[in-house]
Amino acid sequence: MKDDDSLLYVHELFPSFQGEGAYCGVPQLFIRLSGCNLACSYCDTPQARERTGTAWVSDWEGERPGIENPVRASELAEVAVTLWKAEMHSVSLTGGEPLLQAEALSALLPLLRERGMPVYLETNGTLYGAVEKLLPWLDFIAMDIKLPSFSGGVDHGDEHLLFLRAARAKELFLKMVVDDTTMPEEISRLCRRLGGEAADLTLVLQPAWRDVGAGLKPRHAWDLMLAAAPFFAAVRVMPQAHKAWGIR
Ligand code: SF4
Repeated sequence: MKDDDSLLYVHELFPSFQGEGAYCGVPQLFIRLSGCNLACSYCDTPQARERTGTAWVSDWEGERPGIENPVRASELAEVAVTLWKAEMHSVSLTGGEPLLQAEALSALLPLLRERGMPVYLETNGTLYGAVEKLLPWLDFIAMDIKLPSFSGGVDHGDEHLLFLRAARAKELFLKMVVDDTTMPEEISRLCRRLGGEAADLTLVLQPAWRDVGAGLKPRHAWDLMLAAAPFFAAVRVMPQAHKAWGIR
């Protein structure tokens, strides 16, 4: 049994291309961590919300032997080195919600930094205390804004505001998943809660992915964009490219 503060529960490690948001298309090494504090109705990685005994590992050629969970930060950094290529943009920490394991990440991230790997955090934007602790080792932050209608009616406006204040010290953009059922008023209401603090940032509206493709008609996307536009420097509508491509 391994017992120290640097143990991480990892779902998988793999190289791919970023499929969402402002950095869509850049090559990255993905480290997908297990566990999440939310239960979004559109979640496309429900398998990563549970902790499992093995972390799956693959490289550009295919699957490699997995590693046993929990993984010590030093061991994870060494596996990451074997998958990393100099041409990659960054290591994407994704999930699940990576910040649930902030304590162990504070052991991992300096090791990645020492090995020349910039860190890109994908987060649901609610664990503001955790992101503050990790700021010294973060380079890019992709922060979700969660609409109550996809979160069982729970309003995360207060957490998002505090998270935004902490995270804006870094290269930051915001992302909000929407679909044809999303009402423009819900977007305005939530964005108003950010109190103008995102006025210099970009928001990406991301159509929820369904079996049949992105669930958002262009006419409705236009209405949602108009609702968000007063609160951000720029609003883009962008489906998940990796889903359209059929890759992870
Ligand atoms: S925050 Fe992300 S991983 Fe967690 S339930 Fe929502 S979509 Fe899924």
